[in-house]
Parts: sequence; structure tokens; C-alpha cells
Amino acid sequence: MDKYKKNNGFLAEDKNPAEVKNEEWKKVLPKEVYHIAREKGTERPGTGKYYQHSEVGTYYCAVCGNPLFKSNGKFNSSCGWPSFFEPISKDSIIYLPDNSLGMKRTEVECGKCHSHLGHVFEDGPPPTGLRYCINSVVLGFEKEEK
Ligand code: FE
Repeated sequence: MDKYKKNNGFLAEDKNPAEVKNEEWKKVLPKEVYHIAREKGTERPGTGKYYQHSEVGTYYCAVCGNPLFKSNGKFNSSCGWPSFFEPISKDSIIYLPDNSLGMKRTEVECGKCHSHLGHVFEDGPPPTGLRYCINSVVLGFEKEEK
């Protein structure tokens, strides 16, 4: 993604984002992006810029530019974070068991750079029944050109 490459020039040199070390990410990512993406932080509910966002287009990883969700896979949820019922493709996301904080959850990471995005829960709408609960901070959005 051009906008992204401008911000993170070192990845434009064909580096595999999965191999970039956290100390390198720390130099190029805004502080709040680094905290959530690389330290598995969580933005405060209801505060994210894409929570109530309903434009038509594509959501991508703010760290590496990987396309993650389409706006037609997003739904209105009252949970406080942008919620999607399906990712853009099978490979766009990685799933990992997360047993922290005394809960059994499934963490979702970007399939390309392995940054933390949020969690997926089984209380979403049809057809998948899934709710990908994602931090706005680690998303970018590209509006669809008409
Ligand atoms: Fe990524």
C-alpha cells in the first residue's frame, strides 16, 4: 500500500514483514500502533475511529498494509470495537489460542506481519457466526473509488 510504504520506507525494500524485529517496528510505528500491534495492547472501548465507521472500502493492517476486511464483512456491534463477521480471505488472518486474563479466547494476528489485531468470538451474526473484534488503531482504511 503506497501510503503505508511512504511511512515505513524500510519495508519497501522487499523485506518480509514477518521477519522485522520489534526494535525496528518501534522506530517506524506511532507509539499507540506499536503498543497494540507488538505488545498486544487494547484500545479503550468506544474510542476507536473505525468503531462507528460505515464507508465502503477495504480495511488493512496499519503495520504492513495487508488487506484484512471488506466493509461488507463489517457489522454494527455494541461491543465498543470495530466488528467483522469475516476476513477478506483465509490467509489474511492468523489464529492463536489466548488463555491470558483467566479467559479462553482466540487471538487474531495479521497473516503477513503477525501483529496483534484483536480477538475472534463465536457470537457474531450469520453467515459465519463469528465476531472479529479488532482494534481501530491497528487498521487503516481505503475508500472504494466509485
Ligand atoms: Fe500486518
